[in-house]
Order: sequence, then C-alpha cells, then structure tokens
Amino acid sequence: MDGGAPDLAGLLERIAADVAPLIGSGTPAEYIPALAEVDPRHFGMAIADLDGNVHGVGDWRVPFSAQSITKVFALALALAEGGDSLWRRVGREPSGNPFNSLVQLEHENGIPRNPFINAGALVVTDRLQTLTGDASSELLEFLRAESGNPDVSFDAEVAASEHEHGDRNAALAHFMASYGNIDNPVPALLDHYFWQCSIAMSCADLARAGLFLARHGLRADGSRLLTRSEAKQVNAVMLTCGTYDAAGEFAYRVGLPGKSGVGGGIVAVVPGRCALAVWSPGLDSRGNSVAGVAALDRFTTLTGLSVF
Ligand code: GLN
Repeated sequence: MDGGAPDLAGLLERIAADVAPLIGSGTPAEYIPALAEVDPRHFGMAIADLDGNVHGVGDWRVPFSAQSITKVFALALALAEGGDSLWRRVGREPSGNPFNSLVQLEHENGIPRNPFINAGALVVTDRLQTLTGDASSELLEFLRAESGNPDVSFDAEVAASEHEHGDRNAALAHFMASYGNIDNPVPALLDHYFWQCSIAMSCADLARAGLFLARHGLRADGSRLLTRSEAKQVNAVMLTCGTYDAAGEFAYRVGLPGKSGVGGGIVAVVPGRCALAVWSPGLDSRGNSVAGVAALDRFTTLTGLSVF
C-alpha cells in the first residue's frame, strides 16, 4: 500500500491473474433461485484506502447481491443505536455449524451463537427494527452514505426469491420467538431481513462501506459510528465468525477480519490501513467464494498486511 496507486493497480492485476484458474469453480448459491442464475465467471476486487480512494480489478464496479455481508453493517448500526445490551440476546462464539443451522438454538435457549449466522442476524435485525422502526431502510441509507453511491438499492427479485424459499429462516425466527428472543412480529421481521440480504452493491461500494471498521469506528463524514473499542469488537467477531464454519480456515489463510455472503462477495478489513471487497459467485461447500478467499489469501501473502 505504501507504494501508491500504480503499485496497487499492479498488485490487483497480479492477484487476478493468480486466481484466474479458480474463477468459475464452486457453485453459485442454489437455494435462492435468483442467485443461481448469476454467471459464475465474474471476478472483481477493490481496495479502499482510509481516505476513500478505491482501486479495483475485473468486475469491481458491477453490483451483486451482498447477502450476509450486510450482517456486519446491521450489527454496527444496532450497536451504535442500542449499545451493548444486544449481547444479552446473541453470543460471540463461532458456531462450527452451517450458517442456516437450527441445531444449537434449542440447547442454548434460543440465543444464537453469533450475529453472523442467520439466527444471530435475525436477532440483530429485530433489535434494529425496534430501535429505528424501519431496519432495512435504515441500513440502505447507511450503505448509500458510506459507499458514496446513492444508487445502492434493494433487489426486489432477489428479496422475492428469498421469501419464496425462506422456510428455514422463518423456522429460525419462529423458534427464537418461542424463547422470547424476537420482539417484532415474525412476518415483518422476515421482510426486513430479506430486503436487507437483497441489497446490491459492487466491490467498490462494499470496500468503501467497510472503511469505518478500518478507521476504528469513524464514518466517511468523520463522525463517529462506533467507539474504538466497539470497532475492535466487530472486527474480532468478523475474524472468528464471519465466514461461518470455515472461519478458522479463513483466519489461517487470510488473517483478516472478513465477512462473506452467498452472493459470492467477501469484505475484509485491515484495521488502520484499508478495506477490501472481492466477488466471484462460485461458492465452496461452506458458502464462501472460492476465488474470493483465494484472492484475499494472495493479498495478505503478497503484502504481509494481515492482523498477524
Ligand atoms: N439471505 C441468505 C439467507 O438468509 C444469507 C445467507 C448468507 O449469505 N450466508 O440464507
């Protein structure tokens, strides 16, 4: 990063060339039909520095479905608006189970393991809904402001597709409601959750939007969203839980706080330095982008910029 823009452009070109053989491997998410239709040969990567300057390669300006990446931003907003009491309703431990798993909830009294699996994200969205009265719109406005792109939008087709195939998320929400861990009516909560997941953003948008975590809690306009300590906490939970039951492998290979989504995107943060986003729709068996993880692995290997 110290070498300036030309070196960064060269670095990104090199990473793209290195991972090219992997592009198209893995499979796009099939359980949301609107995502299954996306061409698996896309690849894009962007790096945003602390001032918001962005460099990219490949399809870095093409919007895609952010999906679970939005869980990071929803968590940050819920903490900013409502503070620490959220942690009474959701844990901070890796689940070791798939992102949409139900199994731990019964043993743990309806308290999800962490905010980045679906159950935990439903609790976070429920909290944000109670705090703001319109969780998904609040999130969209935040993402438009931080990315600097007023065109960031919901994708109605993706939201509808998730709704139609949303039995598992509905089951998670109802089950947690039976323990008193959901405050809002489940149908309204699911609407906000599906709108949230459907938000379409490019790598450039996501890298910029992730910068508040690289800036230790400061937003693009210089105001404070999170305390330095809260920003550290969100980064830590991303590192340990951001890539589902593959978070250990991601920490081993990449060594950065990261959050993936089944649209094939991943956002990663180098605290104090930059934020990155990568996109390629082919997923591995855990739901993480095959070429995306490989690209971030190459980035930290070539630059030495990891948290370790
Ligand atoms: N919308 C997806 C779901 O609820 C998000 C999952 C993901 O990106 N891992 O299943």
